[in-house]
Amino acid sequence: MSTRFEELGLHDHLVQTVAELGYQEPTPIQAAMIPQMLGGCDVIGQAQTGTGKTAAFALPMLHNFTKGCHHIQGLILAPTRELAMQVAKSMEQYGARTGVRVLAVYGGQAYFHQIPKLKQGVDIVVGTPGRLIDLMKQKKLDLSRVSTVVLDEADEMLSMGFVEDIQIILDETPAERQTALFSATLPPDIRRLAQRYMNDPQSCTLAHKQLTVETVEQRHYLVNEFDKLAALTRLFETEDIASALVFTRTRAATGDLVTELAQRGFTAEALSGDLSQEARTRVLERFRNNQVKVLAATDVAARGLDIDDISHVINFDLPPDPEVYVHRIGRTGRAGKTGVALSLITPKERWLMGKIERFTRQRVPRHTLPTEGDIVQKRQEKLMQRMQVWLNRGRCKRELEVAASLAEEGHDPLDIAAAAMRLAQKEGDSRPIAQISKVVEPRPKMGRANPQGRFGDRSGYTRAQGRRDYARPRGGRPEGGHMGRDSQEKGMVRLSLSTGRSHGITVSHVVGSLAHHADIPGRALGRISIQDNRTLVDVPEALVEQVLAKTGNYRIGRNQVQVRRA
Ligand code: AMP
Repeated sequence: MSTRFEELGLHDHLVQTVAELGYQEPTPIQAAMIPQMLGGCDVIGQAQTGTGKTAAFALPMLHNFTKGCHHIQGLILAPTRELAMQVAKSMEQYGARTGVRVLAVYGGQAYFHQIPKLKQGVDIVVGTPGRLIDLMKQKKLDLSRVSTVVLDEADEMLSMGFVEDIQIILDETPAERQTALFSATLPPDIRRLAQRYMNDPQSCTLAHKQLTVETVEQRHYLVNEFDKLAALTRLFETEDIASALVFTRTRAATGDLVTELAQRGFTAEALSGDLSQEARTRVLERFRNNQVKVLAATDVAARGLDIDDISHVINFDLPPDPEVYVHRIGRTGRAGKTGVALSLITPKERWLMGKIERFTRQRVPRHTLPTEGDIVQKRQEKLMQRMQVWLNRGRCKRELEVAASLAEEGHDPLDIAAAAMRLAQKEGDSRPIAQISKVVEPRPKMGRANPQGRFGDRSGYTRAQGRRDYARPRGGRPEGGHMGRDSQEKGMVRLSLSTGRSHGITVSHVVGSLAHHADIPGRALGRISIQDNRTLVDVPEALVEQVLAKTGNYRIGRNQVQVRRA
């Protein structure tokens, strides 16, 4: 039986606000956690983004919030600037009737945006661990009277190397605080953190939502990076797309993709984080009404997108994290419909596909891209379908007169029909079919079979590649400077940071800074070698540009750090 918001014990004004937001009933995580948090318990929620976890902690915090206090009442820790901003925004939305003052603090934003607001008075602070620590050190953040602390996406924060920072922050808050921890996974280090900092926490594990949805047909295509656009246009021609969400890795790629598709005669719109709320709403409205069939988005921009009948999710770029893959493809095959999830992968990303397959315990079969012949045939089928419609309607009076006079001139009726079709096709689907180059696959090394066996591999997964699994334990990285150039792992590119042991940096500084500023999962990083005056870091090839693009933004402590290819 489903619960109603009215039954959870929340103040009426909060119930009214969520009703106005269009929430009809609490999501399972909300129904489970809100009463526990209202009862004052410490809680652990195993829930991913998209489950409604933000409201699950925000609503009880807002319920307990007292207006007019002169101290910070609630603190939310989030791994990334995007999540901190998003949570702060949701908090303000849910608390619209309470007068709550919420502030997001994160690295990369000037202190003068944050410190005066803290001085004026803030009720709830949402921040990334690094910036919170900086503000605490500067004595600008007083957490001594915080009554509720939330660790959001705790596993992500730990994987970014923030564990010490989290502990320092928690130690600054009163021991009798209420603590809520949200995490998609509960590895031992999270459990240890919970044991140390939480008081008899109540667990709420959402019956692990099927990792992938049975109603989603998954396929992948092997393609060279530079052919991805061509591959996408070929798929657009042969797939029966009612509406598609195409995921790219970066915001810039989203815009580029839309422009390049337009140049090739395919209409798409970008759902970018840059859009104002009104522009975003307009884009989504057009997508919902099927005026635009293809939406290109990043994971961040697609957050909160709540549209049930997306026929295709296309991973133009594969996400580095299997959980993100699962989340992405869960956007299709909803509401009892079937969906299709297609992924374009480059030869170097095959190991990542293998990782996704192991995570979801499902094979994602490789298909070959539609050939020119397939496309021509599909175009013909479409033409015939359109003609059938007109034949059934039988309202082509004028055209019939033209055909009759051509027949009177002695033309064969079949020839007349064929010529008309030729013309129709010329005006319709006459786009050139994009060429695609052959993919050269590196041969798997002899004697290095896929250790997993089960999803083993036509695609040549090797143990060496498997070692590049993002989820390597932190401790597996050598801290010393003994690593030679030639020990760089395959598929990884070595970057050099302009800081080293003599500046007092540690592995967690490096991971935290790169992950935070480049917005990549810390787990993605490979070996880190801290030398006297520089640090070498192995970064997956697919993320190198993203990391290099942010050079100039990296900071460790007070020092700006330059990142370049080693
Ligand atoms: P979250 O998992 O907190 O990121 O939330 C995912 C999305 O679900 C957000 O867009 C929320 O606005 C939306 N949402 C949260 N709770 C509900 C609810 N009870 N009913 C409908 N939508 C919700």
